[in-house]
Amino acid sequence: MKILIINCGSSSLKYQLMDMDNETIIGKGLVERIGIPGSRIIHEVEGMNDYIVEASMNDHKEAIKYVFDAITDEKHGIVKSLDEISGIGHRVLHGGEKLSEPVIVTDEVKEIIKENIKFGPLHNPGNLMGIEACEEIVPGKPNVAVFDTAFHQTMPDYIYMYPIPYEYYKKYAIRKYGFHGTSHKYISYRLPEVMGVGREEINFVSCHLGNGSSLAAIRKGKCYDTSMGLTPLEGLEMGTRSGNIDPTVVTFIMEEENLTPQQMNTILNKESGALGVSGLSSDFRDLEDAADEGNERAKLALDMFVIRVKRFLGAYIAELDGCDAIAFTGGIGENSKTIRDMVCKDLEHIGIKIDPERNDIRGKEQLISTDDSKIKVYVVPTNEELMIARDTMNLIK
Ligand code: ADP
Repeated sequence: MKILIINCGSSSLKYQLMDMDNETIIGKGLVERIGIPGSRIIHEVEGMNDYIVEASMNDHKEAIKYVFDAITDEKHGIVKSLDEISGIGHRVLHGGEKLSEPVIVTDEVKEIIKENIKFGPLHNPGNLMGIEACEEIVPGKPNVAVFDTAFHQTMPDYIYMYPIPYEYYKKYAIRKYGFHGTSHKYISYRLPEVMGVGREEINFVSCHLGNGSSLAAIRKGKCYDTSMGLTPLEGLEMGTRSGNIDPTVVTFIMEEENLTPQQMNTILNKESGALGVSGLSSDFRDLEDAADEGNERAKLALDMFVIRVKRFLGAYIAELDGCDAIAFTGGIGENSKTIRDMVCKDLEHIGIKIDPERNDIRGKEQLISTDDSKIKVYVVPTNEELMIARDTMNLIK
């Protein structure tokens, strides 16, 4: 069975065609600069040169037309006809409270995605447009929506509620939702496999550290707590997002600088985090290099990131009622031995001990703790596309 996975960002679109008989990638690609001059599609097939088409693409619908053209192209295509594709899995940011599982798209599901644009203004509109474009271009093909928020819907109310007047929950559904759910869910299946234990036998902390970062406390395969909130702004310091700060900082700066909510949102989402502190970059490779060369603010941004990861890690170990393992994933979690080492440093007293030789790896599944470390520490590269493809296949079968 062949499944197409579509991930629409605000101005980009990633796609991947998977053969689910052996869970392999048949081909994949990226559309960049949708709605911005210079849009193009880069279509990659193993063993062939990239096929690049530069053309004006005003919205996601036009972009998806180019995707279907590329995958059926006579010379560079990966299927002879679109009939070979059994279903399409879409990554959708925010499913709110009503959607706690991947679902086959119906009019009602589209309404819910629309309803949640208020919480995901940068992603939900593009996600929806991607779905509608597929419905139009390949009518009758099942579309499945897989939500970043869904995996976290098992959190109990005393975790997802904010201590503000209850009426705001009733009126606006303001609560913690959590994100990166597809990644944390993938890890919740893969880590027990790597450890050779049942999914319901372990409690662990999943650390997705990338451009956006979040931790999830996972109890017997289910999410118990996670660090992102109503939006992906809460929690850790990220590439350009502030994560947790005293809310008064927000109102103070707005008053002093005479800023609109929109402007303040941009500052907190795009100009804060590691970029805001370092004044240099949001990319952790640049920051690590600069810190090595003595750049004090790059070092400060890294130290601030690490202490926040440690802080949530400690909190989640306390919440889990016994923690068996920690998994690092995401661009930073998979690739940076320095960050992993800094996070786990001086935690021997709670049973976490990293083996420097085992930790000296990038992007592969490996145990990185010592044999006598009570809590086992692993690197487990995430695979959100595979998770979406599996969820899609299970629903359309
Ligand atoms: P996204 O959240 O956009 O999916 P990723 O998970 O791909 O992001 O993570 C991107 C981040 O991973 C960037 O900050 C990048 O610097 C970081 N990263 C990638 N490789 C390394 C590395 N070798 N060392 C440190 N950071 C790395």
